[in-house]
Amino acid sequence: MTATTPVPTGTSQPDAVDGSADRTDWVSSIPFIGVHLAPLAALFVVVTWQDWVLCALLYLTRMFFITAGYHRYFSHRSYRMGRVAQFVMAFGGTTAVQKGPLWWASHHRLHHRYTDLDDDVHSPRDGFWWSHVGWILSTRYKATDLSTIKDFASYPELRLLERHSWIGPWLVAIACFLLGGWGGLLIGFFLSTVLLWHGTFLVNSMAHLIGRRRYATPDTSRNSMLVALFTGGEGWHNNHHYLPASARQGFRWWELDPTWYGLKALAAVHVVRDLKAPPARLLDQARVRDGAFDIGMFRSYWERAAKVTGERIADLSARPLAPSSEASDPGAPPSAFGPDKGLPVEPLSHLSGLISRVLESADQLADTTRRTRKGAKVPKAESGATDTAPE
Ligand SMILES: [Zn+2]
Ligand SMILES: [Zn+2]
Repeated sequence: MTATTPVPTGTSQPDAVDGSADRTDWVSSIPFIGVHLAPLAALFVVVTWQDWVLCALLYLTRMFFITAGYHRYFSHRSYRMGRVAQFVMAFGGTTAVQKGPLWWASHHRLHHRYTDLDDDVHSPRDGFWWSHVGWILSTRYKATDLSTIKDFASYPELRLLERHSWIGPWLVAIACFLLGGWGGLLIGFFLSTVLLWHGTFLVNSMAHLIGRRRYATPDTSRNSMLVALFTGGEGWHNNHHYLPASARQGFRWWELDPTWYGLKALAAVHVVRDLKAPPARLLDQARVRDGAFDIGMFRSYWERAAKVTGERIADLSARPLAPSSEASDPGAPPSAFGPDKGLPVEPLSHLSGLISRVLESADQLADTTRRTRKGAKVPKAESGATDTAPE
């Protein structure tokens, strides 16, 4: 958390100052821990192969509701569908036990708005634990800021579903019990829910830590086949941060993206429409490989260095970089600064000033390098993506 990053407001809580809102709230986390322990009880009951099939099916279908519904539709509006289909998608999402679509999508929109900055909901720069589960178990993000999700909060049926997001999980749990007894409940429902949670959380933690970066986005997002395998194609997270409005996240044919294939199938039977694919003209721009300045990693390394040398940086930041006596000392070696060099005498009095200037120029440099060879500029994060990429 440096003073050099922009300080947006909007998620600040009254107790943000003492940090208590960031601590794990163990009492309200009891159900979360309980669900993790529940599958262990399966050691004491009969478990059939059908229970494992149920577990796999519930993982895959509920993951699709999260990735295609909560993420690509409610958070990013990367395709369209009718009101009934929208409700079914939202209800399917609630069965994944990740709260309602408005809570989920509003926090995800904040993640995109402030990625890896101070107001990011779950940046791994605040630690792996925080980005994976810490932010969910804290009290800071319990509420939903409807101003970030006005477009969907205007539907009364979605607001109703939001208030009763427990119904979906209970119905699935009861169905599992009726189908497979205790084995069906403990393995089919509880185990698949735990796996589903951590699969989803991987996108917030690992997809900003492991994998390669194709595009010079201003954050630490990565592309990871491993994460994509567990998350129905959400592992192409660097692609996603580059073009968040695209319903397709695996841009290349080999970038496995089952959520995209599922959406294509739903489009074929007219359940969804207007799927936004990544514009072909943007696929080869802003690539790190082509020398685009990687402001995201630059900032990340800079912050890490500042953290490691914490105390020394603090000492240095209080010390003037260019002592004023130097300019008037006739015996001193020629200064790089001064009126004769066309530069101000004390351009940077403190290290913190230097840091903010370096980051500012890096931002400018990043803007410049993001222009195409032909001069067209890459649109900002919320840009639309309408062209169709070559298959
Ligand atoms: Zn992200
Ligand atoms: Zn997203």
